[in-house]
Amino acid sequence: MLKLDDVCLYYGRVHALRGISLEVPEGRIVSLLGANGAGKSSTLKVISGLCAPQSGDVRLNGESVQGRSCGDLVKNGVIHCPEGRRVFPQFTVEENLRVGAYRRIGNKDVDEDMETVFGYFPRLKERMQQKAATLSGGEQQMLAIGRSLMGRPRLLLLDEPSLGIAPKLVMEIFEILKRINKAGTAILLVEQNAHMAIRISDYSYVLENGRIGLEGDSAEISQRPELKELYLGG
Ligand code: ATP
Repeated sequence: MLKLDDVCLYYGRVHALRGISLEVPEGRIVSLLGANGAGKSSTLKVISGLCAPQSGDVRLNGESVQGRSCGDLVKNGVIHCPEGRRVFPQFTVEENLRVGAYRRIGNKDVDEDMETVFGYFPRLKERMQQKAATLSGGEQQMLAIGRSLMGRPRLLLLDEPSLGIAPKLVMEIFEILKRINKAGTAILLVEQNAHMAIRISDYSYVLENGRIGLEGDSAEISQRPELKELYLGG
């Protein structure tokens, strides 16, 4: 479904991505692990069209995304759920969700999709008219994921969903990600919480200084000493 081939990205003189090649097959969960500054968020930005790589190729279902706008990629089901949630604090839960379906304003199916989101996140239904600013960190993350679902993703790019969230809620969110995936959405998951990411993903890549340092089936890669030492606490 998604294929990156030798992608390089510079921010001015900073060489953030140094030849990234990776794949996300249809319907799979793939995780992208690595330390701070390794280039994980930049990889997602290149895929969703927020950053244009200087070289290399990003292909979606065999077609290059070069020159395509973020809006065009959203239409094709590529939805980016950014790091730090970025919910609209003064909008209610409902308004935030509707923003995620901005391409379909007024359509009846928007309400149906909202019910689907509430099926995954009943807490959001209970707080429908509450301003996003007043939600807990975990609930805001649920809202950010819910807003992404309103865009009907075929490929969900998810940046650090566990960041700053209580462990119990992290478990809950990861269980829901599995359900979202089972319902047909492929997920590229950026995480610092390697334990959780490896547990739910089929395949994992580890980024080191803008390069893929390690990759493999998640079950297999979790046994490798270098990963255990660096990311799984020995
Ligand atoms: P984190 O886990 O801390 O979010 P990351 O793995 O997602 O890190 P990126 O945010 O992709 O890493 O950053 C990769 C490199 O690019 C870093 O050295 C970072 O300082 C640099 N970088 C990212 N965004 C910009 C920018 N807008 N301008 C200049 N440099 C940037």
